[in-house]
Amino acid sequence: MKKQLLSALFVLFICGTFLSAQSTEEIVAAIQKEANENSQLEQLAHELMDVVGPRLVGTPQMKAANDWAVETYKKWGIEAKNEEWGKWRGWQRGITHIDMIEPRVVTLSGMQLAWSPGTSPKGITANLIALPTVSDSLAFVKWLPNVKGKFVMVSMEQPTGRPDYNWEEFATEESFEKMKKDIQVKEDAWRQNFRNMGYTSRNINEALEKAGAIGIVQSRWSNGFGANKIFSAGTKKIPAVDISLEDYGMLYRLLEHGKNPKIKVVAESKELGTVSTFNTIATIPGKELPNEYIILSAHFDSWDGATGATDNGTGTITMLEAARILKKVYPNPKRTIIVGHWGSEEQGLNGSRAFVEDHPDIVEGLQALFNQDNGTGRVVNISGQGFLHAYDYVGKWLEAVPKDITQHIETNFPGNPGGGGSDYASFVAAGAPGFSLSSLSWSYWNYTWHTNLDTYDKIVFDDVRNNAILTAILAYMASEDPNKTSREKAVLGINPRTGEQRTWPEPRSPERNGGQN
Ligand SMILES: [Zn+2]
Repeated sequence: MKKQLLSALFVLFICGTFLSAQSTEEIVAAIQKEANENSQLEQLAHELMDVVGPRLVGTPQMKAANDWAVETYKKWGIEAKNEEWGKWRGWQRGITHIDMIEPRVVTLSGMQLAWSPGTSPKGITANLIALPTVSDSLAFVKWLPNVKGKFVMVSMEQPTGRPDYNWEEFATEESFEKMKKDIQVKEDAWRQNFRNMGYTSRNINEALEKAGAIGIVQSRWSNGFGANKIFSAGTKKIPAVDISLEDYGMLYRLLEHGKNPKIKVVAESKELGTVSTFNTIATIPGKELPNEYIILSAHFDSWDGATGATDNGTGTITMLEAARILKKVYPNPKRTIIVGHWGSEEQGLNGSRAFVEDHPDIVEGLQALFNQDNGTGRVVNISGQGFLHAYDYVGKWLEAVPKDITQHIETNFPGNPGGGGSDYASFVAAGAPGFSLSSLSWSYWNYTWHTNLDTYDKIVFDDVRNNAILTAILAYMASEDPNKTSREKAVLGINPRTGEQRTWPEPRSPERNGGQN
């Protein structure tokens, strides 16, 4: 009898050990299975990018995105809410339609810049004028009255619409070298001329507006076929539009050759006064250590040249999908799992900085934060952000991640806290362990970052799926870790770029009432 009981206990003990040894592997396998066999990424991307659209802070679409995220979490049984962090200038994009009227009629490819003042539905029809070449600011001031009643072209005409890699592939070595030199000379002269005028590309629009220009026409090429950056207008009353390299070049040449082109710009945006603006915060409460937190982090806002698919639609759907999977396979986490979809990252990490300021308790209890915000690619780099013992915990958590995902990841421990590249920096500055899941570029900088081409079709779903799996496993491992993570800071070395001793970044306050005229 005694012997039987003992062996029964022994079997129980073995099973128990076996079960708990299995459970990490089982959960990791369940995460992978759910991600691979029941992925919601395409559906989420469609709903966010195609239906909601771009998410510029202060626009109705940003609020629509916040509401959509809360609804989506609700469907999955996850608590979520929109937390107001500040106010912003309310603005709504409308129809932009740009046509050349003279010397022939053609519809041009371009759009109103963010927060640009609008026109009436009838639009504005006027001739163009290019910036002059001047020797000093006095000459520029003398020239300024010429802009009255005209659209001013404020960008350099590009000598080629072909990106470097295309020249490299097809040009003779001689003509590639010649082109590179021509561009260099032209760019140097352009910059020198701006210095002579006494302005920068940032404040020139305002000066032209004051001098009576009727509108601003720019073309901010992003060095990729068909790709332009679409930032903000920098004018108070007159519309500012971006026109594609191809059409801008044509207008410029017509102007140079005395053909006096005339364009018509319709830009029907609306001012909506001051509006509230939000972070969407989702929570899966912790069962054992509810006051310790894992944060899945990605900014929710975007510029609005396109639909913000890779900046930061992909980071957003990665965190949504990871949370959905965790809720399904790990519904009772040891620590609390929060998903932070931050507002207004693009204007200076405002949503996440506000969260850090408003929730010192959560920052204090932070076990780890994982942020993703540099495009659609699979994660290829994780840095310890300057935390001395990051290797001991992040390195350990990574061991649970399948090889087919980690084989692409380079780690850098303890690393440096870094600058303010994205929202993890808001937490790192507060001394809390925030980490960036840094992606392979997939031509991010030239083609999708803040461009008119940042759209659904650029998403590489296999890479995003791997990132969701990685994030879910890291969150699970961080949650289950028997220890709270160390915040001890490494001794920072010399910054090779500046030659100076690196220092830990200081917390910065958010801009809580932005975008006002
Ligand atoms: Zn971003």
